Amino acid sequence: LIELRDVNKHFGALHVLRDINLTVGRGEVVVVIGPSGSGKSTLCRAINRLETVESGTILIDGEALPAEGKELARLRAEVGMVFQSFNLFAHKTVLANVSLAQVKVRGRKRGEADRRSRELLERVGLADQAEKFPAQLSGGQQQRVAIARALAMSPKALLFDEPTSALDPEMINEVLEVMRQLAREGMTMVVVTHEMGFARSAANRVVFMADGRIIEDRTPEQFFTAPESDRAKDFLSKIL
Ligand code: ATP
Ligand code: MG
Repeated sequence: LIELRDVNKHFGALHVLRDINLTVGRGEVVVVIGPSGSGKSTLCRAINRLETVESGTILIDGEALPAEGKELARLRAEVGMVFQSFNLFAHKTVLANVSLAQVKVRGRKRGEADRRSRELLERVGLADQAEKFPAQLSGGQQQRVAIARALAMSPKALLFDEPTSALDPEMINEVLEVMRQLAREGMTMVVVTHEMGFARSAANRVVFMADGRIIEDRTPEQFFTAPESDRAKDFLSKIL
């Protein structure tokens, strides 16, 4: 469903993505881990064209993302993204946050969009929060709104960039539980996270990045019990 072939990107002299080859099949959950600065966020952003790349191909369901315009908006909507910092519109209600892009990008009617938004808010356990504003919710609730908003576009895949890193510990699990549920339902997901419990329980594969390269791409079982590279061993010894 998501395919990267020989992708390269620099920021100035810094080579942040080096010969990246990665395939994520339909229904697969791929967890991306690695040290700070290894290129994890850039990889996510490149997948839905929030960053351009200099060489290589990125295909979503067999289609290359166009560089700009309406087609880009349409194809970008196929791959939802959830960020560390929620990125909700502060002056709009929860319901309006979830409905907005459905109307603007998917061209749905307001009533239809709101109906779908309420269904999704129910799914993430926030049916009773629809009329509130983001600032009236906890961080964990805001992140679940962001997930509902991403789902509202009926994406083929979801990208998560450290979705729980900004949350207080007691809220991490409610967000991970929503993500586990999505995984069980067969959503294709790429998840950058330091939550190793989630990686072990929900991931089909763990991709370990260092210095812009994919160093390991294996099952969680293989990765956690017998990492091959010194970089991965070193990383795991620091975080486990
Ligand atoms: P972290 O775990 O800290 O989130 P990461 O693996 O997500 O790290 P990236 O954010 O992808 O890493 O960054 C990779 C490298 O590219 C870093 O050295 C970073 O400083 C650099 N970088 C990221 N964005 C930019 C930018 N817009 N301009 C210049 N350099 C950038
Ligand atoms: Mg990052």
